[in-house]
Amino acid sequence: MKSALVIGGGFAGCGAAHQLELQGGWDVTLVESAPFLGAGVRTKWYGGHPHTFGPRHFLTRDERLFDFLHRYVPLRRLKHVFLTYVERDAQFYNFPIHVDDVERMPDRDQIKAELARTQSGHAAANVEEYWLGSVGPTLYDKFARHYNQKMWQISDNRELDDAVPEWTSKGALLYEGPRDGFHDAISAYPYAPNGYDDYFEIGTAKARVLLSTRIEQYDIPGKRVKWSGEWRTFDVIINTIAPDILFNFCFGELRFVGLDFHPIVLPMEQCFPDDVFFLYYSGQEKFKRLVEYKKFTQHKSPTTLIGIEFPSMNGKHYAMPMKSQRGLAQKYIDLMPAGVFSIGRAGSYRYIDIDDCIAQAMDVALKLK
Ligand SMILES: Cc1cc2nc3c(=O)[nH]c(=O)nc-3n(C[C@H](O)[C@H](O)[C@H](O)COP(=O)(O)OP(=O)(O)OC[C@H]3O[C@@H](n4cnc5c(N)ncnc54)[C@H](O)[C@@H]3O)c2cc1C
Repeated sequence: MKSALVIGGGFAGCGAAHQLELQGGWDVTLVESAPFLGAGVRTKWYGGHPHTFGPRHFLTRDERLFDFLHRYVPLRRLKHVFLTYVERDAQFYNFPIHVDDVERMPDRDQIKAELARTQSGHAAANVEEYWLGSVGPTLYDKFARHYNQKMWQISDNRELDDAVPEWTSKGALLYEGPRDGFHDAISAYPYAPNGYDDYFEIGTAKARVLLSTRIEQYDIPGKRVKWSGEWRTFDVIINTIAPDILFNFCFGELRFVGLDFHPIVLPMEQCFPDDVFFLYYSGQEKFKRLVEYKKFTQHKSPTTLIGIEFPSMNGKHYAMPMKSQRGLAQKYIDLMPAGVFSIGRAGSYRYIDIDDCIAQAMDVALKLK
């Protein structure tokens, strides 16, 4: 039997332990600093309502990943739209921006003139250039300028130069067609009142799980780590935490943005319109999004729980979409020898979802076959 250490017990870590168990022949140890598995995807309760830390619906374009998770935590498929509140118009609009909504905007003539001036095929070096090139300044101001600034805790969106399509096409950020047609991905949520929690137990059932455990020192080239004062060596290490930690920040610390989450209960059975699960706020409000959790959990109650999300510097929830930061993350990942993998949101330093975490865990297992 070969030994594997999994660092972190979120979706990526539990998913990796699970894949090794399915493959067989592995002695897996999973180390998690929190007293529970699942991190922000674990179901919590407030006022009798189940919720997670942020929405965490299962969103994928890959039926294979849906089928995989559905086998362990049966998933209910959902259909919904996203609305954005634009304070300067005092209106809710669809997001992505729908052409029909432009017709409802008080400054539609100005927007149309700006759209006519945009040109396809020019290079966009950052988020701001991409928006301006696709839809012009008015729609950028309404939907993206302040939203990106608060989401990423920055004052200049030109800093966001990674994960931007290289070329801008005219109107690329405008959508035509049925209101819910844009979201062709599968959107789903577990039927179980405790959400995904059973998966974390299923995935790690055969692993040695050490909760509330902190690794004190790392020797990644030697595939060794130390906890409770003792060094332990493994054949394979699968890391899911920020890669700079593993190398004692030798090139500098990676930047992340965090989130403050506030659940509130309202005295009504349902608050948002039927097909609306998310409300985004694109202006200078301090919060960025409201989510009505019942829409996912289908929890029955005469009251409803809304989660309010405030971007903050608390936690390592979002890797910065900046080339300098991606380059820095890659420098750490490049230091990892054969047999050490870095996956998951912080581990791969990418804005990835639950389905990507499962796919990355599957990919690591395939490489280890
Ligand atoms: C607010 C929010 C909303 C989201 N909504 C969705 C959504 O709707 N749909 C979707 O598909 N995806 C969503 N995502 C993304 C998705 O949830 C994540 O991609 C996924 O859960 C990340 O899992 P992970 O294991 O990579 O990281 P994490 O969940 O962060 O897990 C890492 C684990 O490592 C542990 N850890 C940290 N440091 C150490 C250490 N030194 N030693 C040991 N353990 C350590 C942490 O306690 C944690 O348990 C959302 C993310 C956020 C932040």
